[in-house]
Amino acid sequence: MRGVRRVTLLILLFCALAGAALLLPRLPEPWNPFAPIDLAGPTGPLTRHKLRGLARDPAACFAALAAAGIQATPLPDAEAGADCPLRATTRLPGPLDPARPLVTCPMAAAWTIYQRQVLDPAAQTHLGTGIARVRHLGTLSCRNVRGGTRRSEHASANAIDIAALRLDDGREVSVLRDWGRDTPAAAFLRDARDGACRIFAAVLGPERDAAHADHFHLDLGRWTACR
Ligand SMILES: [Zn+2]
Repeated sequence: MRGVRRVTLLILLFCALAGAALLLPRLPEPWNPFAPIDLAGPTGPLTRHKLRGLARDPAACFAALAAAGIQATPLPDAEAGADCPLRATTRLPGPLDPARPLVTCPMAAAWTIYQRQVLDPAAQTHLGTGIARVRHLGTLSCRNVRGGTRRSEHASANAIDIAALRLDDGREVSVLRDWGRDTPAAAFLRDARDGACRIFAAVLGPERDAAHADHFHLDLGRWTACR
């Protein structure tokens, strides 16, 4: 009897493995853990995991950017200070102010998805216009997290702080002025924050604390947060 049960279990295990082997290659990229990330395709449950994983494979990261039509040149490894290593960094192209900030390749990949699939559609939905320029407060700063003892993701350019978005029609939506109000601009900002949480690891804004009253902090570090 025990032998029959063992054979049955083995058959079931074989069927499960064969099913997975047949099914996995057919899964769309965001659901398939073995498919390289497609920055131009739809996002899914594995998108954030894959973006963070790109830190271990810079060649795959820059290939993903190139495949999405983003020209990003790899910069040589460097140190921004004590315990502030810059690895697989690049200059983030796109309509940013200040222009071309230094970021890790995975952050550039995440930003590509964020701008195309979250920011621009949310601006169209709530404000009826596109985004002309993103005003940020910086990416690189060799320091610890505020009030903490571990290094900030900014210490390795693995983060960006977004302060405001200038729209194609000339208006500007600012996190400090527009967050939490009963306006289309506030609804846009809320979608921008919620959408960021599906792509980046830690997303911190005005709901987090006073230190984030005037910006969204987006990073691809080990810790996850969405506030
Ligand atoms: Zn920040």
